[in-house]
Amino acid sequence: MPVHIDPLTPRRDVVAAPVDQGPVRTCVGCRGTGPRAQLVRLVAAAPHPPGASRVVVDQGRCLPGRGAWLHQEERCLGLAERRRAVIRALRLPGPADLAGVHEWFARGT
Ligand SMILES: [Zn+2]
Repeated sequence: MPVHIDPLTPRRDVVAAPVDQGPVRTCVGCRGTGPRAQLVRLVAAAPHPPGASRVVVDQGRCLPGRGAWLHQEERCLGLAERRRAVIRALRLPGPADLAGVHEWFARGT
């Protein structure tokens, strides 16, 4: 029996994203998922520098290395920071300097 999905009613129990929106990524902040195009990618600006690792927004979503995906919402950035999720996702050796990401979010929203 085909499953009827009312396009006007968002269903939280339907996990799959619409096919034409491409791959789905998981937000390291709220752990929710979303189409790749709606999340921003964070990368460490340089691998394993001494002190805090500077984390920046990968605007083209194509820089090499590990990436952490985040909804473009300050709420998710805050959650990720509290849970140290960016540090874990990027496997940083120490604290993450997210000042550049905060700036980017402040500009972009
Ligand atoms: Zn999120």
